[in-house]
Amino acid sequence: MMQAVQVRKAYDVVINEVEMPKINQENEVLVKTKRVGICGSDMHIYHGTNPLATYPRVIGHEVAGEVIEVGPSVTSVKVGDHVVVEPINYCGTCYACRKGRPNVCENLSVFGVHEDGGMREFFVLPENQLHAVDKTLEWDEIVLAEPYTIGAQAVWRGDVEEGDTVLIQGCGPIGICALKIAKLKGAYVIMTDLKKERLAFALENGADKVINASDESVEKKVMEYTNNKGINVVIDAVCLPSTFELGPKVASPAGTIVCLGFDERPSQISQLPITKKELTIVGSRLQTNQFEKVISLLNDRLLQSNGFITQKFSFSEIKYALKFIEENPERVRKALITFE
Ligand code: MN
Repeated sequence: MMQAVQVRKAYDVVINEVEMPKINQENEVLVKTKRVGICGSDMHIYHGTNPLATYPRVIGHEVAGEVIEVGPSVTSVKVGDHVVVEPINYCGTCYACRKGRPNVCENLSVFGVHEDGGMREFFVLPENQLHAVDKTLEWDEIVLAEPYTIGAQAVWRGDVEEGDTVLIQGCGPIGICALKIAKLKGAYVIMTDLKKERLAFALENGADKVINASDESVEKKVMEYTNNKGINVVIDAVCLPSTFELGPKVASPAGTIVCLGFDERPSQISQLPITKKELTIVGSRLQTNQFEKVISLLNDRLLQSNGFITQKFSFSEIKYALKFIEENPERVRKALITFE
């Protein structure tokens, strides 16, 4: 038997004794969980506000662990490897999958959202959902792979290139991950937020300029910082109707706007700037093919947490951890659950 953290319904979390998972298919791998990151989307499942999740659910999609056993056809990982989970499971045959975009597969199943995730002592996944990482890296560092892939996806969807001017709205976890990747691409990055501490953390992580949107006009400052040329790539990690509306206003000709929001409220955006500047507006969801890139950056020590992890809780403290995150959002960048 083993223990698993289960959200039975909104605001109802239990630690259950459950059967040990077993390898049933020859391509499957048994993993012992070491770290799980808590994400905004886990909090939404906990609060009952994630429209995609079903209950009861073992949450957790930011997962690192050690390989305990492998099925007979497994070749990409071996017993003892340190692995991170790629949380998407897809059909491989629908239009999106054929287009190389399995992250928006019509039959998508996300580990920890549509199916049970990593907040348990052991789990089994097919080998294509696991990636081995340099064993000498700390568990705390490698468990950040999944959030980094979200930032890497936004940067890829925006086609950020060396020398581009990038505006990232919001210095939360996704904004910071996008910042780190955009800087590694050689972009000039301006960040916005409402909180001084979060802007200071963005500066520590390489932001070239920051704008406090609570007391400055983002549009005015952006034009000043870019000599009125505007922004080549706007990444909106605030995701309000108003932040989406800002994108076409501040984008440069041939610019791109990347949106990551789940807000269903409409934004008011006029056609003129989109046509006149021939803008590209794209969505960015989960990730496609970003794990290889992120893992090589982790292995080369080019991506480091640098103060990103603010709390660690043992999995027996999960109720307290969720309550703490709920009540202290200003103190939490990334909180981790440990299984040791
Ligand atoms: Mn996440």
